[in-house]
Amino acid sequence: MSIELTPEHVRCRSLGHAWDVLFTKLRRDEYGTFYEATMTCLRCKSEKTDQCDPNGARFDRPRMHYANGYLLKGIDASRWEVAQEARLALYRSALKKGKP
Ligand SMILES: [Zn+2]
Repeated sequence: MSIELTPEHVRCRSLGHAWDVLFTKLRRDEYGTFYEATMTCLRCKSEKTDQCDPNGARFDRPRMHYANGYLLKGIDASRWEVAQEARLALYRSALKKGKP
């Protein structure tokens, strides 16, 4: 399998996104008050919105907005297979650079 990934996407797919909080809102609905945080990945610029109650418990899975080109269209591979490919690309790249 050979998948074309940018260096940023290789790192995010093998190491996970490097999230940082852009801003947080304190919101209220019919069930009470909750926090809503909007985050961006420092590498690939994907964004996610996460919500939690005042105790820190999540309501749902975060809503994701992937950066252009992050989602792979027409690739016949599972998410895990893509992560394996990205991990190999990252490690081979670091080996070539002689990083410890
Ligand atoms: Zn990312």
